[in-house]
Amino acid sequence: MADLIKPEELVKIGHKPVMHEGWLGWMDTPVNIREGIALYAGKPQSLEYVGMPNPREWNPMDEDWKLPENWKEIILDGLRERIDRFRSLKLFMDICVRCGACADKCHFFIGGGDPKNMPVLRAELLRSVYRKEYTTAGKIMGKFAGARELTYDVLKEWWYYFFQCTECRRCSLFCPYGIDTAEITIIGRELLNLIGLNPDWVAAPVANCYRTGNHLGIQPHAYQDMIDFFCDDIEEVTGVRMTPSMNRKGAEILFITPSGDVFADPGTYTAMGYIILFHYLESLGLDITWSTYASEGGNFGFFTSHEMAKRLNAKMYAEAERLGVKWILGGECGHMWRVINQYMDTFNGPADHLEAPVSPITGTKFENAASTKMVHICEFTADLIKHKKLKLDKSRNDNLVVTYHDSCNPARAMGLLEEPRYVIKNVCNNFYEMPENTIREQTFCCGSGAGLNAGEDMELRMRGGLPRANAVQHVHDKHGVNMLACVCAIDRAVFPDLMNYWVPEVDVTGVHEMVANALILDGEKKRTLNLRSEPLPGMEEEEDV
Ligand code: SF4
Ligand code: SF4
Repeated sequence: MADLIKPEELVKIGHKPVMHEGWLGWMDTPVNIREGIALYAGKPQSLEYVGMPNPREWNPMDEDWKLPENWKEIILDGLRERIDRFRSLKLFMDICVRCGACADKCHFFIGGGDPKNMPVLRAELLRSVYRKEYTTAGKIMGKFAGARELTYDVLKEWWYYFFQCTECRRCSLFCPYGIDTAEITIIGRELLNLIGLNPDWVAAPVANCYRTGNHLGIQPHAYQDMIDFFCDDIEEVTGVRMTPSMNRKGAEILFITPSGDVFADPGTYTAMGYIILFHYLESLGLDITWSTYASEGGNFGFFTSHEMAKRLNAKMYAEAERLGVKWILGGECGHMWRVINQYMDTFNGPADHLEAPVSPITGTKFENAASTKMVHICEFTADLIKHKKLKLDKSRNDNLVVTYHDSCNPARAMGLLEEPRYVIKNVCNNFYEMPENTIREQTFCCGSGAGLNAGEDMELRMRGGLPRANAVQHVHDKHGVNMLACVCAIDRAVFPDLMNYWVPEVDVTGVHEMVANALILDGEKKRTLNLRSEPLPGMEEEEDV
């Protein structure tokens, strides 16, 4: 963050287009790839590892991107194939009336002012080439029909702007025709992938995940070490020694969470929360195991191509089959749930080797997961609370004044709106909502999802996260909110930087960290510290006199 301009400068945003004159002036405005916005190029060894096309050293700031000679043909063939394969894409290419209802709904346009970050114009980057190649009007009238050739400059524009979209789908909510610009970005990225144009922060996690089972490339013994380390910390805070089950064949349930929770603060406190909850439930009949092989719930493959997403998704179900579990419980993650809810069945389903999930504690049958066989931990915990299965002391979270960020994918791609709120309200006394048009389905993105959570694009991230931070600032000023809760590992990884930049008084937490702080364990010692080893309010250790 050292080179990043100060917030008071960054907030001076010009929303007037800096483009060539005329209603199609945007077509003639060349792309200007800037440091702080653009991502670094994927390294050849990452692409080679998973067999992605055209591995080589290259740099987006260079003139020459070292593309295959027939790159144009590859892209146009790829577009033709996808137009034939995805009816939705053909529809999205044809039906936009350019009404502009989506224009000011994207956090990157709001926070940055670049017109090509208006969803309608982002889609036009691809649509203009589609018109030229596939529509009669576009072929005959060219520019006057909104059509243009695919040139090297256009290709660079695609790269730059398809990696300034977090595929969050907020814009689609406001489109009267239901056009999903995220789907257009997904296809745009797939086409770029065909000629080796992947960013490092997508290609490296994909290769790591394929090699070791998680994005960070952590090997099984290191994963186990982290879990042991968490258990030491938990023992210090609670006085209870816990021994989570790992890689155990014959367990009833497999637990899978994003690796970010196991290796980066503050996600680590959420991971400790899972361990404590599972320990608590053991005596009530929970039979669950973690896996050091399916050690990633997230799926960065989704940020480069459907095929790669499918490959990475498959390992979770393969591990469930190997261990012989009945169903899968999933942790607090964002895009993992989009992949599960919207794609898993087509990718690798139906998961007939598993059973429809039933809570062993309450007997609740999770009908919504009958096909994917995978239940979100917030649904699971909300059900436990509803059935009065958890002993909770909310006052242990009284130092927190909490607001909740609806992570884009659980909110918009699976409708997980009530369960996290229900859980939070049962473990915290102080909870305040952000303004209505910034939460639930209309939630504003963290600004760093879909492979954008790198270090080199920090200006883009701070700009894209501004609308979310602005809403947090509002509840901080009005209610004294000091904690931003979320159910996504990318959120937990990126919000600390965003808050630090825009609203430094606010910290970040996962929901199950707060659950575990409130949970009263059998045999626990007097709790004086929370999971971050900070003093609990009003429960501080008495000093010797
Ligand atoms: S709201 Fe829909 S129809 Fe209107 S410009 Fe945006 S994508 Fe096109
Ligand atoms: S999907 Fe999200 S990031 Fe992409 S254009 Fe729409 S609002 Fe912007």
